[in-house]
Amino acid sequence: MKSENNQKLSENLFCTGDKNNCHFLNEIIELRHEVNLLTEQVRTDALTGLYNFRFFNETIAVEMERTRRGTQSLAMILLDIDHFKKFNDDRGHELGNQALIHIANLIKIAVRKLDYACRFGGEEFIILLPNTDLFQAIHVAERLREMIATTPLILNSQSSTLLTASFGVDEFSTYMSDTCEGFIQRVDTWLYQAKHSGRNRVSHPKLRQRIQTEAVTLEEKNALFDALNDNNGQG
Ligand code: GH3
Ligand code: MG
Ligand code: MG
Repeated sequence: MKSENNQKLSENLFCTGDKNNCHFLNEIIELRHEVNLLTEQVRTDALTGLYNFRFFNETIAVEMERTRRGTQSLAMILLDIDHFKKFNDDRGHELGNQALIHIANLIKIAVRKLDYACRFGGEEFIILLPNTDLFQAIHVAERLREMIATTPLILNSQSSTLLTASFGVDEFSTYMSDTCEGFIQRVDTWLYQAKHSGRNRVSHPKLRQRIQTEAVTLEEKNALFDALNDNNGQG
């Protein structure tokens, strides 16, 4: 893998003298390789392999600016594992870490290539979904909630357990004037609502009646009806 990377790096390097006798070429290739590796490490959460909080902070600013200049919404999903302190207390920190990796792996499966899945801190994860409106983001969150609630975490050869998580979802549209903190705060308020209305659920603002547009598939319509029903009394 390393030599393959080095070969790719060397393709873009030129030695002003004789390439075969350039003493610096290999060193430059090695250094470039290390810079790439460090760049990756600086933005990655070591435990889960998701993007870390630092990367999230940089990315949300860029994506909100892009959204202000464009026409499509930016959606955000914030999720927090339910009763995770008890899980840690009962089963120990190491299994707690395995649970965090388990959830992160499910998040990786649930999101699209262009989404940014990040560890927000502790047992909270945040997903930025560019070019995605509230309706679509609720759909992603609901699918992930279901995956988490139904995919067992293997504890040992004889036992497994199920975890749940609560979700807050909201969107940032081109006409909005939120700061990054304001947008995160809105989504966090919905997460708080999900916790307080029983956990293992997705909370979000009321959906506008997109159901009347022709672009909605039957599957989306069903999801929208579910979301509207769930939304009754949620603000
Ligand atoms: P709630 O359903 O309200 O979210 O309750 P909770 O117990 O999940 O929330 P609380 O904030 O009380 O506890 C979070 C726990 O997450 C505390 C800590 O033990 C655990 N935790 C945070 N970061 C890590 C980590 O990196 N590894 C492990 N194993 N546990 C962690
Ligand atoms: Mg928490
Ligand atoms: Mg929690």
